[in-house]
Amino acid sequence: MKSTIITIGDEILIGQILDTNSQYISQSLNALGVVVAERTSIGDDAGQIVRTLDRSLSVSDIVIITGGLGPTKDDITKHALARYFGSSLRYDEATAEHVRTLLARRGVAFNDLNRGQAMVPECCTVLHNGHGTAPGMWFERDGKVVVSLPGVPFEMVHLMEDEVLPRLKNRFALRAILHRTMITSGIAESILAERIAAWEDALPPYLKLAYLPAPNIVRLRLSAYEVDGESVRQVIDREFAKLYDIIPEAIVGFEQASVEQMVHQRLIERGETLSVAESCTGGNIASKFTAQAGASQYFLCGVVSYSNEAKYEVLGVDEQAIRSHGAVSEQVACQMAEGVRRISGATYGVSTTGIAGPTGGSAEKPVGTVWIGISTPDKTYAVCRNCGTDRGQIIQRATAYAIKMLQEEL
Ligand code: ATP
Repeated sequence: MKSTIITIGDEILIGQILDTNSQYISQSLNALGVVVAERTSIGDDAGQIVRTLDRSLSVSDIVIITGGLGPTKDDITKHALARYFGSSLRYDEATAEHVRTLLARRGVAFNDLNRGQAMVPECCTVLHNGHGTAPGMWFERDGKVVVSLPGVPFEMVHLMEDEVLPRLKNRFALRAILHRTMITSGIAESILAERIAAWEDALPPYLKLAYLPAPNIVRLRLSAYEVDGESVRQVIDREFAKLYDIIPEAIVGFEQASVEQMVHQRLIERGETLSVAESCTGGNIASKFTAQAGASQYFLCGVVSYSNEAKYEVLGVDEQAIRSHGAVSEQVACQMAEGVRRISGATYGVSTTGIAGPTGGSAEKPVGTVWIGISTPDKTYAVCRNCGTDRGQIIQRATAYAIKMLQEEL
């Protein structure tokens, strides 16, 4: 069963908003066993809507459209759909009543534009939108289904969950698609691919493998349709188990869990504490931890010691070390990690000092050079990493490396 998602809105095309509707709809359809063959974003233009719908129905059995239903958009999508299905519009009393009640609750008068929202194509089934004024619409033709939903994300989500997904389940015989993800860290994607090549070649043909790289992490996702007789989940578990013999040091978790979530969990379990002293990452490491509920159980303090003065006045870094070795050095990274551990009394101190660019690099210490320090009750050490050439990428990679180093200590 194939589907196409069409999102409508000039604001998507000019980059004013991110098309999160497509992401949510893709996830929901996939979980139901519907393959998303394509996603398209188009402008608020009736001709384009009709052309895109026509083309989509030539490749897909299900088309989900969001947006362009609001009163201020002159209900472009609704008129285009009525035209496409050769249907006239009718006044839907139930929708009108719902809109009137909703607006009365907000103290807004029901006007001609709202009256227009209650007009729906004769040939569609109206999907009640309990959270907004524009109803969803369900069309069927030649065994194919077209659904039109409002663009407002939470209205769309409610309609998908309450109306669209249950109807699709009833309407089509669907086989669930299973996705399972293993998280690896510390091995670059190309090296990882080489090391697991024999395993990949021997995978059953119905399992699809995808590599999903992120800073210092590569996710391996296996996907398959449920196969009668054998649970695909068990097959995937067996295949992932084989990787423990091939890349044991690289496997850090499963599904969506990030390394910082795993470190967060581990620190709570162990009753240990953490403080960070950041220069080039500017608080990014601290925010990865403090963004998680429960961080107060272990996160003691974060110091953004950007200037040399802050390094020695707040963290007690030796001025001489900065003069002799430079602020971006092994000695300074170690003293920062030790310093933040000492002033806060934390079990672990983590530090970063580097050159995030675009200026400030030299032949000896090019942009992207980052020293990451770790201080534990037993030892203090620092590792130098080249984190790339782009400022944003350098910050993200240095953050990922630092959190991974802490994870190895745990
Ligand atoms: P309304 O009745 O509120 O006008 P609508 O169905 O006409 O709804 P749009 O006007 O296209 O929908 O979008 C309403 C708002 O919903 C937009 O301002 C935007 O913030 C959000 N939105 C629309 N499409 C998307 C999308 N694909 N992803 C995320 N947000 C979206």
